[in-house]
Amino acid sequence: MRQYCKHCHFPAKTCLCSAVKRVHSTVKVVVIQHPKEVHHAKNTVRLLKLSLQNFTVLVEDEKDFRTQLINCLSLAAHPAVIYPSPSSQPLEQINRASNHDLFILLDGSWKQAYGMWCRNAQLHHLPQYHFATPPDSTYSIRHTQRAKSLSTLEAVAYTLSVSDSCDVTPLHNLQNAMQVHWQGPSEHQR
Ligand SMILES: [Zn+2]
Repeated sequence: MRQYCKHCHFPAKTCLCSAVKRVHSTVKVVVIQHPKEVHHAKNTVRLLKLSLQNFTVLVEDEKDFRTQLINCLSLAAHPAVIYPSPSSQPLEQINRASNHDLFILLDGSWKQAYGMWCRNAQLHHLPQYHFATPPDSTYSIRHTQRAKSLSTLEAVAYTLSVSDSCDVTPLHNLQNAMQVHWQGPSEHQR
């Protein structure tokens, strides 16, 4: 039977605990996760859970999902959403006076994210932002349809690097550590 680390929940052989460093952001991050992403081994949200303090994951098919989302929104003074909608503004041109204290991101493929966007009409009333000049992704163990797409961890790190003064380097380091494990001995690859 495969042994799992009690803390990071990765297989014991690829335990990432030594690479986890806590990141404290002032801005809260909520990721709405598509149910199909929850058990995906290469999903980077599990890394965010280990390292990011001011962070919540809401899985879209949980029965109290709607209540939890409404709660998160009601606790924030100036919530915003990262989604490339027809009316989204470039995050890079964010006005500091907008004082966003919560960013919501969607975790799934482009198609899944579009579905989540359509189903969660509460988000349509929030200020919306997209990445105009995102950094190159260094996440290479999972292929996506679009060359320019970031992992969810990278999208969160980029959002915080633009909107918060916290150092997001530990997030990137953790993602790199995960990739090194996957690219290691062939028994670790899928
Ligand atoms: Zn561990």
